[in-house]
Amino acid sequence: MRRTAELTVLAGVLTVGMASTLYAQPQQIITDPLLPEHAVEHVSTHVYVIRGFPNVGIIVGDKGTLVVDTGLGTRNGTRVAQVARGLSTNGQRLYLTTTHFHPEHASGQAGFPADTLVIRNHVQQDELESDGERMLTLFRSRPQFRELLQGAGIGRADILFDRELDLDLGGVHAQLRYFGAAHTRGDEITFVPEDGVLLPGDVVQNQISPNIICGSCSPRQWIAVLDRVAPLRPKLIIPDHGGFGGVELIAQERAFLVDLQNRAMTLKSQGRSAVDAGRLIGEEFAHRYAGWQSLNNVPQSVERAYQDSSGP
Ligand SMILES: [Zn+2]
Repeated sequence: MRRTAELTVLAGVLTVGMASTLYAQPQQIITDPLLPEHAVEHVSTHVYVIRGFPNVGIIVGDKGTLVVDTGLGTRNGTRVAQVARGLSTNGQRLYLTTTHFHPEHASGQAGFPADTLVIRNHVQQDELESDGERMLTLFRSRPQFRELLQGAGIGRADILFDRELDLDLGGVHAQLRYFGAAHTRGDEITFVPEDGVLLPGDVVQNQISPNIICGSCSPRQWIAVLDRVAPLRPKLIIPDHGGFGGVELIAQERAFLVDLQNRAMTLKSQGRSAVDAGRLIGEEFAHRYAGWQSLNNVPQSVERAYQDSSGP
């Protein structure tokens, strides 16, 4: 029975190679909350991706397999864990980490086998415990998510780290990093040095306006995080939503945030209100960044820039 399941999963593996030109086109954000079955892509020697809401990474070594993000709710978590098991033909130990605490990334934890080792940074675990229920309630208010989130709760971690944790998976490593707040307070980044693959969560995306969602987050802090990510020099970047890309995605994301920050500070120095500046920069960016997704969040980002610069 188990063998049949493994073969089914492997039959669904698509090899797409490493050429980042394949990923040059930004892709629409996938919003179907149910991850696809039998559609895992082999993107580098050790890394596989289930493309969906969100893109889920699976790093397979000789001794261990690390899953990055769970999908929304237990049913998706079970699906991801089955794919990871199917790829772990040496009986590898299963690890799970999450890019941030939002429900499509972390609420499927209960679908993983009980012996899975769950790893997170401290800040993300704190954020999950303090703000996770509120986010679950918010997501449950959307009809398309409600059923999938039945019974979903706040997961615990077996291993917590402050700034960095290196995981030896056997022939390949996963470098788990906490560089500070960007999209949320506890954003986590995973880098696979042997393959040059980066799984940055929401911190680096492909022409999607950065969503500065946490109240204490700001463009300035997000830029500081990108300056820690850049020296990793990844060859392939797998954002958790939207299309994949090469190292150029980091500079592209940074330039957008610097532009937004500078425009906000200019308008602030001219005495404009945050609301006014948000509306004006929103209109400017709709033209300047035509083709980018989620530009409706620009006014919120401007507000965060204003707050961040107001001092205590
Ligand atoms: Zn998120």
